[in-house]
Amino acid sequence: MTMSNIGVLIEMDGQEIKASNYGVLTAACTGGNAVALVFTENGDVVKNDLERFGAGKIVTMSATNPVQKAKLMAAAVKEFNLSAVLGLSSARGRDLLTRCACILDAPLALDAIQADLSDGTVVKSHFSGKTTAVIQLSGDTLLVGLRPNVIEAVENPVSAELVPFTAEADSSDGFKILEVKKGGTGTIDLTEAEIIITGGRPMNSAENFQILHACAEVLPGAVGASRAAVDAGFAPHSMQVGQTGKTVSPKLYIGCGLSGSVQHFAGMKTARIIVGINTDKDAPIFGKCDYGIVGDLFEVVPVLTEVLKNKR
Ligand code: FAD
Repeated sequence: MTMSNIGVLIEMDGQEIKASNYGVLTAACTGGNAVALVFTENGDVVKNDLERFGAGKIVTMSATNPVQKAKLMAAAVKEFNLSAVLGLSSARGRDLLTRCACILDAPLALDAIQADLSDGTVVKSHFSGKTTAVIQLSGDTLLVGLRPNVIEAVENPVSAELVPFTAEADSSDGFKILEVKKGGTGTIDLTEAEIIITGGRPMNSAENFQILHACAEVLPGAVGASRAAVDAGFAPHSMQVGQTGKTVSPKLYIGCGLSGSVQHFAGMKTARIIVGINTDKDAPIFGKCDYGIVGDLFEVVPVLTEVLKNKR
């Protein structure tokens, strides 16, 4: 039986591949031959890492804006006979996969938590995580954006062929990037982080978030905030997790002073392990987390940081 070719849109952070791409590559390897689609000037820089996670073909492309990138991706789908394209359901991934789906007139599912490419079924959470939908996609090429970190990356070493790819130049996109402003304050992107420590309303000030940053540095992880903390001006919106903030799927989520609202959980309930720290033993978060600590976050977090420091 011939295996189908599954494209994987690889997201770069400067010259480096974002770690969350490797889980997406693993998903592609399960369904067929993984073909990495990378926007880079230098394929040699990414080759070893992509080979390690099973990309048998690495298609390198060059474009300056999302319109051109999507056109190139769509051309690559045809050139390399891709039956599906997987990517991260990140801000950039959602943008490019959607544009590409429009060009190809192909079905698209974003924010997926599972994808079975053998029969085109995709699992998504809906209505703030209250329901899970199994969606059947059908078409010549299926496009799926996976939530970062939902699939464990598994090494699958292969030898890859590097294929630089260009398509007919088209300058009629009417699109020009004037400036790129980086959001967030931490060094680890919230949506990519394997560990997140989040502060709620009782953080009380922006300065107090420093105790979470200190802990995140040792973990190492990223710092998030509830909407109550963001609305009160203690943290920027780029740190907000939840229905109207970011959707995250870390391996470990530590919620400090969070009541456990449905809207907050909508953004992080797929975290593998959830820890709640709350002074109120009856707080709803204790009904939703794997481990609970009844205590004052201003006492618990510094102790946790110290213990972790000593462990390292
Ligand atoms: P609170 O609900 O005030 O809970 C604070 C908790 O901290 C309490 O349980 C308290 O017992 C505990 N506590 C107090 N002091 C301490 C201490 N010293 N140490 C430890 N624990 C302590 N919220 C989001 O977070 N993200 C969203 O994206 C989001 N989107 C929304 C969209 C809509 C349409 C709506 C209506 C709401 C949305 N919300 C969102 C708001 C949400 O409903 C909650 O109001 C919010 O999540 C509560 O934030 P919190 O848990 O930090 O604060």
